[in-house]
Amino acid sequence: MAYDVIIVGSGPAGLTSAVYCGRALLRTLVIAGSVPGGQLMLTTEVENFPGFEEPILGPDLIQHMRKQAERFGAEFIQDDAVRVDFKTRPLRVSTAAKTHEASAVIIATGASAKWLGLDSETRLRGKGVSSCATCDGFFFRGKDTVTIGGGDVALEDTMFLTKFVNHATIVHRRDTLRASKILQDRASKNPKISYVWDSVVEEILGQQKVEGIRIRNVKTGKQDVLKCDGVFLAIGHEPNTTIFQSQIELDQKGYVVTHNGTSTSVEGVFACGDVRDFHYRQAITAAGDGCRAAMDAEDYLEEKSLGAH
Ligand code: NAP
Repeated sequence: MAYDVIIVGSGPAGLTSAVYCGRALLRTLVIAGSVPGGQLMLTTEVENFPGFEEPILGPDLIQHMRKQAERFGAEFIQDDAVRVDFKTRPLRVSTAAKTHEASAVIIATGASAKWLGLDSETRLRGKGVSSCATCDGFFFRGKDTVTIGGGDVALEDTMFLTKFVNHATIVHRRDTLRASKILQDRASKNPKISYVWDSVVEEILGQQKVEGIRIRNVKTGKQDVLKCDGVFLAIGHEPNTTIFQSQIELDQKGYVVTHNGTSTSVEGVFACGDVRDFHYRQAITAAGDGCRAAMDAEDYLEEKSLGAH
């Protein structure tokens, strides 16, 4: 059967799109991914999503959103989209098992934080290792943290952390920051921030929770242990857009280029959430964006007399 809308991705952006599309009585298919739910599935307590007075676990929040979308008739496939064809009508999105067709597609595949790739980092994720200072900074009141990276996000995140922490150290692999001068100036005036230059993390220490990091100076080879309670990764994000290359316009870093709201370079294809937004990257902004994409898709279908109603 052909759908009105296929939503690719099932984080807050995709699921909010699904709620809105379902409520608009559009025949909606969500290709949720083999590991559904997006980055919230890697989060523990979420305290900044309005509507939940008490903290809610990231996976629980996703589950609520999914059930809400299902209540309005959205169908789900728990598999990865492996190929799209936006050059034909209807538009096509394929999983390994099947090709699905729709008049409109909403891309909500999000972005993934880059990780160092250390075993100790994986083991201690959510136990002091985080890729989101805005989400988790609050839990480090009075503690010492380390931020890895030298870009804008590393500096912004570390300045944010200093609202809570006792001390924040930035560990950077070179002796020059990549971050913009204005942020460098601001950070240099912050007495809670210090730097360790030319250093890479060899291991994150601790069994049940982070207790420190072992670093190596890349110029001298000297190793050191830096005690800390939290490690924040700020080494960049990668938008999940591999399957859209050569189908829609992407920017230099691979983010989907949008115009007039959530429209992409292909008529009938919309994008929302972290796949097009490298700046805010919050569950609530992604959810808001998902609402916009659904409304844009609905308008498009109505304008072209393609929708179910
Ligand atoms: P970014 O600019 O790519 O910086 C990533 C940083 O992580 C770099 O310093 C890089 O080191 C380091 N790094 C990368 N891989 C590493 C590894 N494996 N081990 C250790 N260090 C590693 O990424 P971002 O800071 O996330 O920013 C993303 C984009 O958003 C940028 O275009 C940024 O300007 C923009 N942004 C702007 C603002 C603002 O204007 N207020 C705020 C936030 C973000 P090297 O420097 O050695 O490559």
